[in-house]
Amino acid sequence: MNLPFARLFEKMTRRKRIINALRYNPLTIEEISEIAEVNVKTVISDLKHIRLSLKNQNKSLYIQPPYCNSCDSIINIKDIKNIKKCPKCKSEWISRARFFIR
Ligand SMILES: [Zn+2]
Repeated sequence: MNLPFARLFEKMTRRKRIINALRYNPLTIEEISEIAEVNVKTVISDLKHIRLSLKNQNKSLYIQPPYCNSCDSIINIKDIKNIKKCPKCKSEWISRARFFIR
Protein backbone atom coordinates (compact mmCIF):
# COMPACT_ATOMS: atom_id res chain seq x y z
CA MET A 1 0.00 0.00 0.00
CA ASN A 2 1.37 3.37 -1.04
CA LEU A 3 1.13 6.22 1.37
CA PRO A 4 0.94 9.59 -0.33
CA PHE A 5 4.36 11.16 -0.53
CA ALA A 6 3.45 14.02 1.79
CA ARG A 7 2.43 11.68 4.58
CA LEU A 8 5.51 9.59 4.10
CA PHE A 9 7.62 12.74 4.24
CA GLU A 10 6.03 13.71 7.54
CA LYS A 11 6.83 10.38 9.02
CA MET A 12 10.51 10.64 8.35
CA THR A 13 12.61 11.90 11.19
CA ARG A 14 13.87 15.46 10.98
CA ARG A 15 17.45 14.47 10.22
CA LYS A 16 16.34 12.09 7.51
CA ARG A 17 14.25 14.88 6.02
CA ILE A 18 17.30 17.15 5.99
CA ILE A 19 19.46 14.44 4.38
CA ASN A 20 16.80 13.87 1.77
CA ALA A 21 16.51 17.58 0.96
CA LEU A 22 20.28 18.00 0.65
CA ARG A 23 20.54 15.18 -1.87
CA TYR A 24 18.73 17.29 -4.44
CA ASN A 25 19.69 20.90 -3.84
CA PRO A 26 22.48 22.74 -2.07
CA LEU A 27 20.68 24.63 0.69
CA THR A 28 21.61 27.39 3.10
CA ILE A 29 21.26 26.93 6.84
CA GLU A 30 18.21 29.25 6.79
CA GLU A 31 16.55 27.19 4.06
CA ILE A 32 17.19 23.98 5.97
CA SER A 33 15.76 25.63 9.07
CA GLU A 34 12.51 26.32 7.18
CA ILE A 35 12.28 22.81 5.78
CA ALA A 36 13.03 21.13 9.10
CA GLU A 37 10.99 23.65 11.12
CA VAL A 38 13.71 24.13 13.70
CA ASN A 39 15.97 27.04 14.55
CA VAL A 40 19.38 27.70 13.00
CA LYS A 41 21.24 26.42 16.06
CA THR A 42 19.47 23.07 15.82
CA VAL A 43 20.21 22.89 12.09
CA ILE A 44 23.93 23.35 12.74
CA SER A 45 23.91 20.61 15.35
CA ASP A 46 21.89 18.34 13.01
CA LEU A 47 24.34 18.96 10.16
CA LYS A 48 27.29 18.04 12.37
CA HIS A 49 25.54 14.84 13.35
CA ILE A 50 24.59 14.08 9.74
CA ARG A 51 28.17 14.62 8.58
CA LEU A 52 29.37 11.95 11.01
CA SER A 53 26.57 9.52 10.25
CA LEU A 54 27.17 9.71 6.48
CA LYS A 55 30.68 8.34 6.86
CA ASN A 56 29.20 4.87 7.24
CA GLN A 57 27.23 5.22 4.02
CA ASN A 58 29.97 6.23 1.58
CA LYS A 59 28.45 9.67 1.29
CA SER A 60 29.64 13.07 2.39
CA LEU A 61 28.28 16.42 3.36
CA TYR A 62 29.85 19.10 1.17
CA ILE A 63 29.99 22.84 1.72
CA GLN A 64 29.61 25.28 -1.14
CA PRO A 65 31.63 28.11 0.38
CA PRO A 66 30.22 31.60 0.81
CA TYR A 67 31.44 34.31 -1.55
CA CYS A 68 32.15 37.91 -0.63
CA ASN A 69 30.85 40.37 -3.21
CA SER A 70 32.79 43.26 -1.69
CA CYS A 71 36.31 41.91 -1.87
CA ASP A 72 35.64 39.26 -4.50
CA SER A 73 36.84 36.32 -2.52
CA ILE A 74 35.72 32.85 -1.64
CA ILE A 75 35.37 32.38 2.08
CA ASN A 76 36.69 28.96 2.92
CA ILE A 77 34.94 27.37 5.84
CA LYS A 78 35.85 23.97 7.18
CA ASP A 79 33.40 23.84 10.02
CA ILE A 80 29.62 23.97 9.79
CA LYS A 81 28.61 27.47 10.70
CA ASN A 82 26.45 30.30 9.48
CA ILE A 83 28.83 33.03 8.37
CA LYS A 84 27.23 36.43 7.91
CA LYS A 85 30.31 38.60 7.55
CA CYS A 86 33.41 38.32 5.40
CA PRO A 87 36.37 37.52 7.67
CA LYS A 88 38.67 39.62 5.44
CA CYS A 89 36.78 42.86 4.84
CA LYS A 90 33.90 42.45 7.35
CA SER A 91 31.34 43.10 4.63
CA GLU A 92 27.91 41.53 5.04
CA TRP A 93 27.38 41.46 1.28
CA ILE A 94 28.14 37.77 0.99
CA SER A 95 26.38 34.79 -0.44
CA ARG A 96 25.50 32.19 2.16
CA ALA A 97 27.24 28.85 2.49
CA ARG A 98 25.25 26.01 0.96
CA PHE A 99 25.30 22.41 2.03
CA PHE A 100 24.68 19.30 -0.03
CA ILE A 101 25.14 15.56 0.11
CA ARG A 102 26.71 13.35 -2.56
ZN1 LIG B 1 35.18 40.48 1.84
